[in-house]
Amino acid sequence: MLTRAAVLRRCGTGDDGTPPPFDALAIEELELAAPGPGEVEVAPVAACICHSDLSVLTGARPRPVPMVLGHEGSGVVTEVGPGVTRFQPGQPVVFTYVPACGHCSFCVGGRPALCEGGNAANQHGQLLTGAKPFQDHAGEALNQHLGLSAFSERTVVAQESLIPVPDDMPLELAAVFGCAIVTGVGAVVNTVSVRPGARVAVFGLGGVGLSVVMGAHLVGATEIVGIDVVEDKFELARELGATTTLLAGDDVATAIAGLTAGGVDYAFDTTGVAAVVSQAYATTRRGGTTVIVGLPDPSARVEVSPAELVATERTLCGSYMGSAVPARDLPWLFQAYRAGYLPIERLIGERLELGDVPAGFERLHEGTVVGRQLVQIAEAA
Ligand SMILES: [Zn+2]
Ligand SMILES: [Zn+2]
Repeated sequence: MLTRAAVLRRCGTGDDGTPPPFDALAIEELELAAPGPGEVEVAPVAACICHSDLSVLTGARPRPVPMVLGHEGSGVVTEVGPGVTRFQPGQPVVFTYVPACGHCSFCVGGRPALCEGGNAANQHGQLLTGAKPFQDHAGEALNQHLGLSAFSERTVVAQESLIPVPDDMPLELAAVFGCAIVTGVGAVVNTVSVRPGARVAVFGLGGVGLSVVMGAHLVGATEIVGIDVVEDKFELARELGATTTLLAGDDVATAIAGLTAGGVDYAFDTTGVAAVVSQAYATTRRGGTTVIVGLPDPSARVEVSPAELVATERTLCGSYMGSAVPARDLPWLFQAYRAGYLPIERLIGERLELGDVPAGFERLHEGTVVGRQLVQIAEAA
C-alpha cells in the first residue's frame, strides 16, 4: 500500500558545530509491504517530536539512512501478519522502542531495554524480524527508526514493538507514554528507586525531563529542583511538581547545595550534554546518585574522580528506556494517569500535522519548545 511518511535522507556530523541538515527531512510517498510473519500493520494516530529522532538527524546518534523517523507514538492495528495471535485489527496500541526478543539473557533477566536482538535490529534500521517494510519509488528499502517509524500514515512493526492500550485511555495521549513517560518516570522508579522525602535535581526540562519531574513528584520526593537554559519552561515544570526552578549556569551547584543542605540525593541529566552531566554530578551530596538519561554524543567524555566515588560512595549510572519492562510498566503508568497522578494533558504543547514534522524538529533544535509537540496523524478509530 502507499503511505506518506517523514523520511530522513542524510545525517549531520554530530558535535562538530555544523548545522543539522534539516533540508534532508521531508514528507515522501512510500510503498509499505504487507505485514510478514510476526509483524503487525498499524495506523499511527499520534506521534511526538522527541530528541532521539533529532539526534539521528544531527548525527549525534549515528543510524543508517534513508530512514523513516518517529518512535514515540500510538495507533490502531489495521492488519496482522501470519502467526500473530496477541493483536487483532481495531486494537489500540502504543509503540515501545526496544522490541525485546523475550529469550536473551537480558530479557529473561528482567532487563528488556538491554535486549541483544532488539538493540541490534534498532542499530541496523530493521524490524526484530529482520524486515525493512518501507520502499521508495526508486525501489530502495528505507531503514526503520527503532523498529517503529511512527511518522507515517501506516507502518509495519514487529509484534514485540507493541503494547495494548486500554479502551478508556485517550489514545492520542498514550503516545507520550511510549518514550517520554516510560523513560522519565522509569528512571525515577526503576533505575534508582527514588524514595519519599528524597531531594532531586532534574537537568533539562524537555519532555523527558518533565517526566522525571512528574515521576519524582509521584513517588513523594519533597525537593525537586528543575534546571534549564530556557526560563519559559519553568511555569510548566512547577505545575508538574518542581518545587524550585533554576536557570542553568555556573552557580547552579552552589545554589542547589544551599537549597538542599549540601546537595541532592539524586541528580538526573536529560540533556545528553557531557558538561551538564558533570554539573549534575557536582550537585549530589555524599552517597548521592547521578543518573544519565539523555543520550550524549558517542565521542563525549566525563571526568570523574574515582577516589571521590569511593570515599563519598557516590554513584554515576545510565538509564535506558527507564530500565522499564514495558509490558509490566505501561499498564500501571496508564492507571496512574487515570487516577490523576500523571497530568499528561499539561505535558502536551503544540499540536502539528504530518507535514509540520520537519519544522517541528527545527523548533526542537532551537531549544525553546515548551512541552511535547504532538503530531496528529489520523483520527482515533
Ligand atoms: Zn523518544
Ligand atoms: Zn532479548
